[in-house]
Amino acid sequence: MAKYFGTNGIRGTLEDVGPAFALQAAQAIGAHFKCGRMLVARDHRLTGELLRNAVVAGLQSAGCEVIDLGITTSPTAEFMLGKMKADGLIIITASHNPPEYNGLKVVDGKGISVSKERGEEIEKLFGNVKLADFGSIKPVQGHGTSAREHMDAMKALLHPDRIAKRKPFIILDLGNGTTATIAPQLLKELGCKILTINSHMDGHFPGRPSEPLEQNIQELIRMVKETKADCGIAWDGDGDRIVFVDEKGNFVVGDKVCALSVLLKLKEKNGDVVTTVATSKAVEDVASKFGCKTIYTRVGAPYMSDVMANGKAVIGGEEVGGVIWPELSLAKDGIFTAAKIVEAICEKPLSAWLKEIPAYYNVKTRVECSEKRKKAVLDGVWDHATSKGGRVIRHGDDAIRIDQVDSWVIIRASGTEPCIRIFGEAKSKDKAEALVKEYEKLARSLA
Ligand code: MG
Repeated sequence: MAKYFGTNGIRGTLEDVGPAFALQAAQAIGAHFKCGRMLVARDHRLTGELLRNAVVAGLQSAGCEVIDLGITTSPTAEFMLGKMKADGLIIITASHNPPEYNGLKVVDGKGISVSKERGEEIEKLFGNVKLADFGSIKPVQGHGTSAREHMDAMKALLHPDRIAKRKPFIILDLGNGTTATIAPQLLKELGCKILTINSHMDGHFPGRPSEPLEQNIQELIRMVKETKADCGIAWDGDGDRIVFVDEKGNFVVGDKVCALSVLLKLKEKNGDVVTTVATSKAVEDVASKFGCKTIYTRVGAPYMSDVMANGKAVIGGEEVGGVIWPELSLAKDGIFTAAKIVEAICEKPLSAWLKEIPAYYNVKTRVECSEKRKKAVLDGVWDHATSKGGRVIRHGDDAIRIDQVDSWVIIRASGTEPCIRIFGEAKSKDKAEALVKEYEKLARSLA
């Protein structure tokens, strides 16, 4: 079992992911990528600069050529990885976690982020890396035009004329995150009228918690209603996750953003759709309407991008509002998802688009649980579920999904936080709530 790598890289507070640790980890990562050409990017967290310095020192001392992209969104960094054909990328980010967290997200040259399993291989190199000779240390190169290059690539995939003609009014809640480096500029250039809130990057996240949950974006919801905006958009801290508020002020959950993205993509081009076992069945229903296949993976971006790299998928997405557009990268790109949906609402309102998505009720909750107790909770859930009958499947070592007619529930040990996540879905709200309550109670008693 990997000690430090979770479902999406390494995360922790400065105590666990400090400069000495980051230096050692970066040396091991550099060696894993054969000491080649490595990109480094970071978000704007308070510990970002010190970890960046340690990561760069680690890579350089392992003999890598380092290109520093500076502060960018994760999707921008992952787009640049493909564009610059580098051997690997380290993004210093803790995504949507609280301010005191930071982490290392590691992506290989194919654009696939390093999973727990592959992380275990890297961990074996910790402390065992042969340092480069004095004469072969390479200077660090800066690269300051990533946002511009990412924007140009996105614009080439859109129809800016349609947006410029309609001039939609959009409110952006940047959550004091890195989307400030790109999202307002892109939407302005596309011809939108925009209003931004929480728009300065601030590692204290003074405006709202970084995770774009409904309870965290109440200000955006209120402003969309008051100003009669065409929609509101909110991202997490590093810009891979996105949620919407429709023109009536309704929160649009990540599953629906994902299903709508699939609908928009398949209208243009048919192909396989990749999603995780924790995503709403609405995605599969949309794909079936177009006669397209849905491929399910374990929860975690690495598993989705792995399938996408080796198959014929035209789009991928997961329930938190992360959508992969393979023409740009194999990473979740919340910036392009924003632009794509903004383009669609120039044709008809967001609420009208959402009527085309099959209605399911989703209930999501979490139960606090230490790392030590996660296995015991999952074992208990397994015993309970299998004794009741129905289709019960384990997905990897961290999730159990129980399928009944027209409803399902997944119980999953979080790979990034000390908690168990429980998501349920059904055709009726009562049924979804009852299903989630049953497993929430059980998990609580076992945690
Ligand atoms: Mg994120």
